[in-house]
Amino acid sequence: MNWISNYVRPRINSIFSRREVPENLWKKCDSCGTMLFHRELSDNQNVCPHCNHHMHITPRARFEALFDGGIFTEVEVPEPVADPLKFRDQKKYPDRMKAAQKKTAEEEAMLVACGEIGRTPIVAAAQDFSFMGGSMGMYVGNAIIAAAEEAVKLGRPLVLFSAAGGARMQEGILSLMQMPRTTVAVQMLKEAGLPYIVVLTHPTTGGVTASYAMLGDVHISEPNALICFAGPRVIEQTIREKLPEGFQRAEYLLDHGMLDRVTSRTEMRDELITIIRMLMKQPPQVVGDLPAPDETAMAETADTTAEADGTSEDA
Ligand SMILES: [Zn+2]
Repeated sequence: MNWISNYVRPRINSIFSRREVPENLWKKCDSCGTMLFHRELSDNQNVCPHCNHHMHITPRARFEALFDGGIFTEVEVPEPVADPLKFRDQKKYPDRMKAAQKKTAEEEAMLVACGEIGRTPIVAAAQDFSFMGGSMGMYVGNAIIAAAEEAVKLGRPLVLFSAAGGARMQEGILSLMQMPRTTVAVQMLKEAGLPYIVVLTHPTTGGVTASYAMLGDVHISEPNALICFAGPRVIEQTIREKLPEGFQRAEYLLDHGMLDRVTSRTEMRDELITIIRMLMKQPPQVVGDLPAPDETAMAETADTTAEADGTSEDA
């Protein structure tokens, strides 16, 4: 220990960290360019209040807004074999994983949780586009299977929020194998007579669209989400024709019968409650004076929420 590490280094660090703060307080809307205060934006679930543009949202932030009182219990996902192909492009695959884990403060590209929405118990899974493009590897496959098994065990519907660039290149054929695996998981729900609802968010593409994202009983999408197998640029180059406006976007797909609903993120919770209660043959949601929540259930989930609050501050 000397004066450099005791005095100089903390001063340098504080100067740099002070500079970073003002940049993070404001975020520019990607669509209309309005400067938005970070709290205003997060209170509105990362939807621009001026132009209704839906920006990226982390699974944790989504679950906090979705579940009653922001309370949910995470479902454990079995860890797959790490880097089975010893894959390397410009970077080694384990190094890419570490960078993504550091950036998102999440273990992998999917988060599975149990909880209640409008006093309706559900299991939910959400994909994280900021984690290596939300790509579907063995972990995501395991997560969907864990979610489906939990839903069957508890007799609850499964709500899945998809967001992915497709299968994870670094896991090669093993990531493609997740297409049939997740299809079987969805079939488990169907055999148990439980609803499987998919909320497609921007973007949902490739192997994800070709498997579990398009096997729902109800398909809801967020506005203007790109949903496709091959992207518009690839198609345009292949057929050498100009594609119609809004091609493969949520509203276009709704008009052409690929989706059931296009719903704004801020209204998604109410819509999910209505649909789930209808499919589960439950009476409509009680709005207004509700009985106090079950104390034992609150005690069980308290740990998870404390943890969730900590990480959402960093995200
Ligand atoms: Zn905007």
